[in-house]
Amino acid sequence: MKLLLLGTYLLVTALKFALDWLNLRHRQQSHPALPEAFDGQIDEQRMARSDAYAAAGDKLGFIEDAFGVVLTLLFLFGGIFPWYDQLIAGYAEGFVANGLLFFGLLLLVQMLIGIPFSLYRNFVLEERFGFNKMSFKLWCTDTLKSLLIGGVLFVLLGGGALWLVAKAPQSWWLWVWGFWAGMSLFLMYLSPYLIEPLFFKFSPLEKASLEDGVRELLDKAGVKAGKVLQVDASRRSGHSNAYFTGIGKVKRVVLFDTLMEQLEDKELLAVLAHELGHWRCGHIRKRLIKGQLVALGSCWLAFTILNADWLPGLLGLEQLSFAGQVLLLSWLAGLLGFFWTPISSWWSRRDERQADQFAINLVGSGRELASGLVKLARENLSSLFPHPLYVAIYYSHPDLVGRVVWLGEQKPSKP
Ligand SMILES: [Zn+2]
Repeated sequence: MKLLLLGTYLLVTALKFALDWLNLRHRQQSHPALPEAFDGQIDEQRMARSDAYAAAGDKLGFIEDAFGVVLTLLFLFGGIFPWYDQLIAGYAEGFVANGLLFFGLLLLVQMLIGIPFSLYRNFVLEERFGFNKMSFKLWCTDTLKSLLIGGVLFVLLGGGALWLVAKAPQSWWLWVWGFWAGMSLFLMYLSPYLIEPLFFKFSPLEKASLEDGVRELLDKAGVKAGKVLQVDASRRSGHSNAYFTGIGKVKRVVLFDTLMEQLEDKELLAVLAHELGHWRCGHIRKRLIKGQLVALGSCWLAFTILNADWLPGLLGLEQLSFAGQVLLLSWLAGLLGFFWTPISSWWSRRDERQADQFAINLVGSGRELASGLVKLARENLSSLFPHPLYVAIYYSHPDLVGRVVWLGEQKPSKP
């Protein structure tokens, strides 16, 4: 059984690396000319720069992944796992304390290992391509704040769940799901007030004319948003974005200041129209409900599997603590989850196309959105020629060149 598990892991890992390699190779080959919408925006030099940026990212990703594979092999298949499980059992007696220590220590190690990669990404890779705007001091405070918030949430959500498992051994799956669902809703309400301001400064739009345009667009789309804000993303990175968040009364539109620098107003409004499309087409609500249903199913499945007590046998072990079994189960879920990736990516791309169509209907044509996306690709050095198979499996958005052509051809349709 252990061999089968190892075989599956190596197979999935090999598949992932093969896909990366395929995509890298595809990018290096010669490409057809870009469609008209790219004229004057992206030249040979820009393309070479995009390729160099993508290649540098791939290289770092490859090293990071390879490192992760070695650690996983050592931990799960090299005998560290049962040793670690025993070690924690010796230190923490209670059920809740044992689980918290077990996962807390692992998360801490994972975070520490991630630090050099994060430093390299920000201060070498992003720096080289002119994206990094972060000072080392800001990076340190960001990291510390994330660690603190993560720690508090971990103790609250993890400790609470473990306590429920101990209190209701026959029905904990329902209780844990209910607790997490309630907490995640609560955090969604709270995050714009409590967590996001710790990292970013939100302020009203500086440009009054843009604010009028945004309000008009919201009215036209039939969306009631309390606030239209800009955020000082430029303090950290030159990358740009816009988003629309919130539930109930705390809905708000947030525009990166970098986005406002890079796009003309009418392009920015078209991008925003796309974001509103996600709201009006119910994607956000559906995603939330789907996520909760999956969580409910997962809790029940975990409960059933953990009760059946065959998990330790997968690795040829006599026994594992509850926390150890949960870790093994979630690793297994992540492994098999790879086969779900193409389906969820396809779903996401379908949503993106719907939101694009919504934007076309709202703005009257797809030209503004297309030219906005081309400019964003230029500024963000996006990769323009991914391998079609790579797109099919991983891309949450349609590939840019195809999307821009589609936007140019599409006409507004009556809903
Ligand atoms: Zn979208």
